[in-house]
Amino acid sequence: MRCMSCQCLSLRTFCKNCETNLLAPSITKRTIGTLDVYSFYKYLNIENLLLTKHNPQGYRIFKALANITLKPFIEKFIVADPREIYIIGIDEKVKNGYSHVSLLAHSMKSKGVKVLHSSLMAQNRVSYAGKTLQYRIENPRNFIYKGKSKIEAILVDDIITTGITLQEAQNVLLSHGVNVLFALTLADAKE
Ligand SMILES: [Zn+2]
Repeated sequence: MRCMSCQCLSLRTFCKNCETNLLAPSITKRTIGTLDVYSFYKYLNIENLLLTKHNPQGYRIFKALANITLKPFIEKFIVADPREIYIIGIDEKVKNGYSHVSLLAHSMKSKGVKVLHSSLMAQNRVSYAGKTLQYRIENPRNFIYKGKSKIEAILVDDIITTGITLQEAQNVLLSHGVNVLFALTLADAKE
C-alpha cells in the first residue's frame, strides 16, 4: 500500500517522512467573539487530504490525521486540567458510511474525556463554500443539541473558515448550560 500523502510505498496511512515533516502540526489560534479556536494546519497545506472527506478513502485519512493532532493534544491537555471534559463534534452527519467529524471526536476519547457523539446536529446544511460572511449569517445551521447540560466541553470540527458555525454552536450549547472551553479544528482556511 501507499502513503496517502506522497504515494511512496508505506505500510501506514502516512509514511514516516510525511508524518514527521509535511504533516507535523503547527498550532495556531484564532478568537471568534469569546471562543478560542486552535487549528493544527493551514488549510492549503493539506487541502487534498481534507477533500477526501467526500469519498470513502477519507475514513482512513481523517483517522490518521486525528491521531497525529487531536489525540496527542487532548492527552497533554488532561494532564494539566483534570476536570471531566466532553467532546462535541459539529454536525456528525454520515456520508459514504462514516462521519469525518465523528472520527475526529472519537480520537479524543480517553480517561476523563467523554465523547457525546451526534449530539449537535445541523438542521440547515446549505453549502457555505464560496459564500460571503453575510450569507452565512443569514443562513444559520440551526443546530439541535441533544446532549447533557451543565458540563465543560471542547468543540471539534475539520475546518474553520469564518468561524461563524463554531460561534453558532457555542451559543446553542451555552443556552443548554454547556460551557465551551475552546474549539479545535484540523485546519484554518483563513487566507
Ligand atoms: Zn508520504
